[in-house]
Amino acid sequence: MIGLKNDSFFMKEAIRQAEKAFSLNEVPVGAVVVHRNKIIARAHNQVELLRDPTAHAEMLVLTQACNFLNSKWLLDCVIYVTIECCSMCAGALVLSRLKKIIYGADDPKAGACGSIINIAKNKKLNHRIEIKKGVLEQECSLLMEEFFLKKRKEVKKFSRKKKRMLIDKTKISRPS
Ligand SMILES: [Zn+2]
Repeated sequence: MIGLKNDSFFMKEAIRQAEKAFSLNEVPVGAVVVHRNKIIARAHNQVELLRDPTAHAEMLVLTQACNFLNSKWLLDCVIYVTIECCSMCAGALVLSRLKKIIYGADDPKAGACGSIINIAKNKKLNHRIEIKKGVLEQECSLLMEEFFLKKRKEVKKFSRKKKRMLIDKTKISRPS
């Protein structure tokens, strides 16, 4: 199929979004929505910036895509997202009647496309979404690993600094 872009092409765009999140100190998850082989929406996680626990990349990209199509449904759309969707996002995508979810890496702690639960393919719900996983998996999970490593280092550094401050204080308050 000449001219049709492949899954890695679109996942790279989602990764670019995740990298943006990383640089803004947000958990690095990125997503794009593709309609007829064209990207119609892009977003990254903005939970910290918006102080909103629902501001996941998938939620933001879903709203953008609906606005673009001027439709409450994303019937012929595919979402490319770097990390497996959580239960909130998978639920929202089911409501949007999206056709397919393509994601990079599993989220063993919160993934709702098969890891801890499968909302996207739940037979009791009125819509099921096709799932494909493992597209550029390593790149996607590496970003997450790097991010949480950086966070842990920051916490360590902070607690060391705090300790030092406490020691300094006790030195000062001690009579000579
Ligand atoms: Zn989510």
